[in-house]
Amino acid sequence: MGTLMTMRDTDRALVQAASAVAKLRCRSVAHTLATAARTADGRVISAVNVARAAGGACPEVVALATAATQGVGELETIVTVGDRGRNLVTPCDACSHLLLDHFPALRVIVGPPENPKVLPLADLPQQANHDPNNLPDVVASADT
Ligand SMILES: [Zn+2]
Repeated sequence: MGTLMTMRDTDRALVQAASAVAKLRCRSVAHTLATAARTADGRVISAVNVARAAGGACPEVVALATAATQGVGELETIVTVGDRGRNLVTPCDACSHLLLDHFPALRVIVGPPENPKVLPLADLPQQANHDPNNLPDVVASADT
């Protein structure tokens, strides 16, 4: 199973940043998820998804592209939250691969908002799509 990492104050702040973007900007069927990513030098990049009946763009991809647009060299930690107070959302399989291609050491915050966990993105169990109810096993077993 995955290697749990220490949840830092900056990680909690990142969850809050993503939650704030979700609350403020995810108010339609077009935008339902918000991502916040912290760069190696401490900047925070935020992004929302662009939803579509089939396909669309995940917020992690938009965040990655935004980072590139802003000249950010390295993303260190990423978190995605759902709209309407939904849980933290685990990146989908496609996004996980994409992010790992660019940032092999990326940390991801997952789990229930009141008790989030950090783990290496490389250790995330694979899953096909965004489903806030489909949390990785590592989170369920993390307290033991
Ligand atoms: Zn995705």
